[in-house]
Amino acid sequence: MNEGLNHKCRACLALDKEMISFDEKVILIFNDLTNLEVKSNDGLPQHVCKSCWDIIELFIQFRERCMSVNWSLRNNLKNLENIFLASGVNSKN
Ligand SMILES: [Zn+2]
Repeated sequence: MNEGLNHKCRACLALDKEMISFDEKVILIFNDLTNLEVKSNDGLPQHVCKSCWDIIELFIQFRERCMSVNWSLRNNLKNLENIFLASGVNSKN
């Protein structure tokens, strides 16, 4: 591989001073978020720059918040249904 390319960010091609190296965990996260199939030692850059990593971390937080809110909404819906069902039973009595 071209030596210059080897030092660039895998996500944006920047030549940043601070790079986050691909280890097993970073590759897993990167592939999960991008739907790419990056592999260790696939002949392409094995790191992302700090700016891209910040975006990845923001997205992880965003996804976790969405999942948490979704859980909360569904739970509220369930509670509302239970209240409705309970009140329905009571009205029969
Ligand atoms: Zn980058």
